[in-house]
Amino acid sequence: MVVCPWCGTNYAAFQSNCSKCGGPIQAVQAVPALPSEPELVMPPPPPREIADNYRWKLMLADSWSMGAATFALIGAIFFLVGLVLAVVIVTAFVGIPFLGIGFLFLGGSGAVFYWRYKEAVKGVDILRNGEAVIGKVTRAELNYSVQVNGRNPLTIGYQFQVAGKEYQNTLTALNHLDLQFEPGQRVCVLVLPNAPDYNSLYPHP
Ligand SMILES: [Zn+2]
Repeated sequence: MVVCPWCGTNYAAFQSNCSKCGGPIQAVQAVPALPSEPELVMPPPPPREIADNYRWKLMLADSWSMGAATFALIGAIFFLVGLVLAVVIVTAFVGIPFLGIGFLFLGGSGAVFYWRYKEAVKGVDILRNGEAVIGKVTRAELNYSVQVNGRNPLTIGYQFQVAGKEYQNTLTALNHLDLQFEPGQRVCVLVLPNAPDYNSLYPHP
């Protein structure tokens, strides 16, 4: 099995570019099991070939965006019902509050969409232009209370340094079956040079 190091998609056979994110897939040797520490796999230098439309796939997998979509739908229903009540049936005292609720929901979800869209663009930017920095795993915990397709998500905490300053982040991953994470283990972190708060692990679990 081959795993895309940029987005974590699994493939049964080797292919040179990922169909999901467009990133180049290197033929990577299997990572040995602990206690012998896995050899670090470093990414090719930036800029890398990551598809622009991967940002939309990131948004589809994002729980904030999906939540905002639900709110937008509720908002649209309230807005339409309010419009019909106020304009067609002329019951403005019911129609206008409905319109107001619909407007609030639509506005709120629009703001969330805009925020998540900008984050998704940054996510593509990290894969495309991120510098490789060696960091360290601070925690790796399986979440047994959640199951997606028969798998438990793994929360990985990691830290790294850029220009003498320490940064921390956590990442939740589902496709981690053939990658090992233990506290203290070294990892490769992709970091946006001008904004180190934007970072990710490589290969992506
Ligand atoms: Zn990919």
